[in-house]
Amino acid sequence: MSDNHAEFSPESLMMSFGHEPSLVRNSIKNPIFQTSTFEFATAEEGKAYFEKVYGGAGADESSKSLIYTRLNHPNLVTAEKRLSLLDEAEESAFFESGMAAITTSLLEICKAGDLVLMSFPIYGGTDAFIKNFLPKFDIQSLAFSPDMTEEEIVSLIEAHPRKNRLACIYVETPANPTNTLIDIEMTVRIAARFSNQDKKTIVAVDNTYMGPLWQKPINHGADLIMYSATKYIGGHSDLIAGAISGSSALVSRIKKVRSGLGCMASPWTSWLISRSLETISLRMEKQASNAAKLADFLHDHPKVAKVYYVGHIAEGHKQYELAKRQMTSDGAMLAFDVVGGEAEAFRFLNAVKLAKLAVSLGSTETLTSHPFTMSSSNMSLADREAVGITPSMVRISTGIENPDDLLKDFAQAFEKV
Ligand SMILES: *Cc1c(COP(=O)(O)O)cnc(C)c1O
Repeated sequence: MSDNHAEFSPESLMMSFGHEPSLVRNSIKNPIFQTSTFEFATAEEGKAYFEKVYGGAGADESSKSLIYTRLNHPNLVTAEKRLSLLDEAEESAFFESGMAAITTSLLEICKAGDLVLMSFPIYGGTDAFIKNFLPKFDIQSLAFSPDMTEEEIVSLIEAHPRKNRLACIYVETPANPTNTLIDIEMTVRIAARFSNQDKKTIVAVDNTYMGPLWQKPINHGADLIMYSATKYIGGHSDLIAGAISGSSALVSRIKKVRSGLGCMASPWTSWLISRSLETISLRMEKQASNAAKLADFLHDHPKVAKVYYVGHIAEGHKQYELAKRQMTSDGAMLAFDVVGGEAEAFRFLNAVKLAKLAVSLGSTETLTSHPFTMSSSNMSLADREAVGITPSMVRISTGIENPDDLLKDFAQAFEKV
C-alpha cells in the first residue's frame, strides 16, 4: 500500500503517496480523472456514499465515496494527501486559486459580529477581501504591523469594542516584499488569550512566501495554513491553485463550504499539483541556494543600497532568533533597493535578460518586479512608506537557472543603471 509512510521522508514519498496503482490497472502514475460524475454499482451503494459524504466523514478514492467531482475526486485526494504530509497536518484541501482557499476559509471561520486581526502588509487580494467584502457581513478587521510587541497587539485588541469576538488572527510571514517576520507562537498566545468557551480564535498563516518545506506553522500552534499553490507548490508559472492544511475537524468544515461555493481544484489542476509536488524539494533547494548567491552578490554591489533577505538578518537582531526558531531555510525570495529611485529600478528591470519581469513567485524561472508600482501599488503611499516599500525597491523570486548565469545577467543589468 503506497500510503504506508512512517519510515520514509516526504521528499521520497512525493512520487507515490496518495496513489494506489491497483485501483487504476497498475498505472505507476495517477491518470487524470476527467469526469464529472461516478457510477454507483447499486442504488444501495449510492445511498451509502451520500450518507458518508453528507455525514461529514472524510472521503477518499479507495474507501468508496466518489459521487460527483465538485464534492470530491481522485486527483484532488492525491494532491491533498501529499500536501498534508509536507505540512505535517491531519488534512488538506485544494482550491482553484489561492484567493478561493483564503476567502472560503474566512467565510467559514467568521460570522456576523466578529473581528479579524491581520498582519500588515498582507497580500492585496486578501487585504481587499477582509477590508471591503467582509464588512458586508458585519465582520470587522484590525491590522497590526510586524514591529509591534505582543503587549502592544494585545492592547490594540483590548481597545476594540469587539475584543470578545476575535474569530481569527490572520498572518503572512515572511511579509511580501520586505521579508519581515512575524512570530507565529506569539500570535498563538494572543489567540489563546482572546478565545472563550463559545469560540476558539483561529490562527491562520499564509505560508505562500516560504512554502511548505521550511516553515511548518502547525508545529508552532497555528490552526490553519493557507497557500497560493500557484507559487512554489505549482512551481512552474503554469497554473492557478490554492490550498489549506489543518486539523480534520477544521478542514472538513471548510471543505463543506468549498462544495457549496464550488471552488475545488479541478482534476487537471489537481493532477498538475500532484506532479509538481514530486519535484518540490529539488526545485526549492536549488531556488534557495541560488537566492543565497544572488543576495551575497547584491550585498556587495555598489549600485545596491539595501538587501532584504532572511539569510542576511544580523545575529543579535530580534528577527534573527525568530528566523532560526520558525524556519529551516532562508527561502528564495529577496528584494533590494537600488541606489537612486524609480528610474534606476526601471533601468535595471528593463535590462535583465534571463530573469523575467512579472508578478507571482516561486516558479522555476527567476522573476523580477517593482512592488511600489505593481503588486503593492494598491496600498496608500503612507502605508508603503511605513513598511519600507520604496520606488527604488526591486523584488526577486529566484528560479532554478545556473546561478553563474543569473549573476552575469544581474551584473550586465546594473551596468545600464
Ligand atoms: C499569490 C498570493 C495569493 C493569492 O493566490 P492566487 O493563487 O493568485 O489566487 C495569496 N497570498 C499570497 C501571499 C500570494 O503570494
